[in-house]
Amino acid sequence: MSILLQETLNPFEIVHKQIDVAASYLRLPEHVTDILKKPKRVLSVNFSVRMDDGTVRVFEGYRSQHNDAIGPAKGGIRFHPDVTLDEVKALSMWMSFKCGVVGLPYGGGKGGVICDPHEHSKGELERISRGYMEAIADFIGPEKDIPAPDVYTTPQIMGWMMDTYSRLKGVHSPGVITGKPLILGGSKGRNEATAQGCVYTILSALRDIGLSPDNATVAVQGFGNAGRIAARLLAEVGCKIVAVSDSRGGLFAPEGLDLDRVCELKDKGSLAEYGNEYHISNEALLELHVDILVPAALENVITGRNAANIHAKIVAEAANGPTTPEADKVLKKKGVLVIPDILANAGGVTVSYFEWVQNGMHFYWSEEEVLEKLEKKMNASYDAVRALSLEHDIDLRTAAYMISMKRIAEAMEARGWI
Ligand code: GLU
Repeated sequence: MSILLQETLNPFEIVHKQIDVAASYLRLPEHVTDILKKPKRVLSVNFSVRMDDGTVRVFEGYRSQHNDAIGPAKGGIRFHPDVTLDEVKALSMWMSFKCGVVGLPYGGGKGGVICDPHEHSKGELERISRGYMEAIADFIGPEKDIPAPDVYTTPQIMGWMMDTYSRLKGVHSPGVITGKPLILGGSKGRNEATAQGCVYTILSALRDIGLSPDNATVAVQGFGNAGRIAARLLAEVGCKIVAVSDSRGGLFAPEGLDLDRVCELKDKGSLAEYGNEYHISNEALLELHVDILVPAALENVITGRNAANIHAKIVAEAANGPTTPEADKVLKKKGVLVIPDILANAGGVTVSYFEWVQNGMHFYWSEEEVLEKLEKKMNASYDAVRALSLEHDIDLRTAAYMISMKRIAEAMEARGWI
């Protein structure tokens, strides 16, 4: 028990552990892991924003660029009251490894602003978005560091930020940010991409454990862009969505939820209205006896404390960092197939890459073309990770890190850094 109590929930320390495990299999020298364990550049900004009532508030934000050996930094911007510098650093490292697993020509980046978007009007949100972009504009760029949406940031926010950047530089610059509205050079399929990619990996995992998607039971924790669309897409391939939740609580119906109704209630602001008899807590949702569990919210929801009570056969990490290293060990012993974040949610950054490519050539693909390219990339990446995990009898996370870290180390060597 004392070991469990000491488990760290600091994402920056967690990513170090994940690097160490993969490095031991790869036999990477220490100076290489030393480079991988630190972001190359971190920017911390404070900027003031006028509120609707006339007062001025100062907001704190960060942007971390982890490693640019393979290409420019890439990764989202998070708006959340609990954002910390260590979290942003870790998220930028996860982005490097994510881009590495799916073979994108990018390194990792991440940004965050400490704020609660639910507290702000549309006008305030616009000024926060533009204020943050103004503060980081010299640090980023289409060939330098390309932000995108993350928790609580939207295509509209990307649109404002692109506009601010373009005005500051005096050049139309759609390639500076991805996840934009279609009219501003967004890509077809980008909004669904994280969930769609996650569903492709789930279908591969189901095949591997000999389960059909038909009537496979699913619990989705988190009902934002990733969770909500994943629930829909999984229902479309025949799965039964028995439980969903948002930050305020969840719903559970063993016979399957009426997703139309759930979405309608979510849009109105309260899942709870679905009916008292369906209420379930986020904690209990994670421990349901389901075939597939999709954590799609924030970090550290499956830890050493509850891992033994996870009853899903597959855990597909649509969120970044939902499972701690302590929990990974327990889940591996229990035979739970964990599709790690850097693979399971890589569909988002993959279609971001497609968006950036389209922005560069000023020529846009159909949704079918985007989805076909996404499916190929996700399936090939899953198969490579799975094959390596079987070869070494390691979990998919370690295998994914190995593929990625090897690629980054090769690029660093070719550049003469190591
Ligand atoms: N925020 C997403 C992620 O964590 C997408 C990043 C991107 O598209 O650059 O993967």
